Amino acid sequence: MPQLIQKTELKTFYYTPVHCPFCGVRVMGADPQDETRITACPHTLFIAHDTGFEYRSARLDRNLRLDGLSEHEVEARWHEDKGGIDGFTDTVSLPDAIKVAAYAPAPSAYGSYYGFAPNE
Ligand SMILES: [Zn+2]
Repeated sequence: MPQLIQKTELKTFYYTPVHCPFCGVRVMGADPQDETRITACPHTLFIAHDTGFEYRSARLDRNLRLDGLSEHEVEARWHEDKGGIDGFTDTVSLPDAIKVAAYAPAPSAYGSYYGFAPNE
């Protein structure tokens, strides 16, 4: 059985900026000022929130068999997972992959998810 992504949860310091564990680049989802600005590095597998993916790498698409699907079909795939996008991204099985899940406290209960894996 392939190794599943290793998960680290940020609950108290959920707002801490997330940096790639392999190269140190600070990764960020869409900038509210300019939503086309997403910062990812070559190790970034995905950047996601509970409402959807902001960034997906080709490696992620291959691993989760999202290759060639439309955005709508991708959304249908993670909606099928009872854990939502958080549970769906827990199923990544690339070697030594690491996921950082940052959970903002109630009442917002909003999660941000970042996935990384070393390159061959
Ligand atoms: Zn990196």
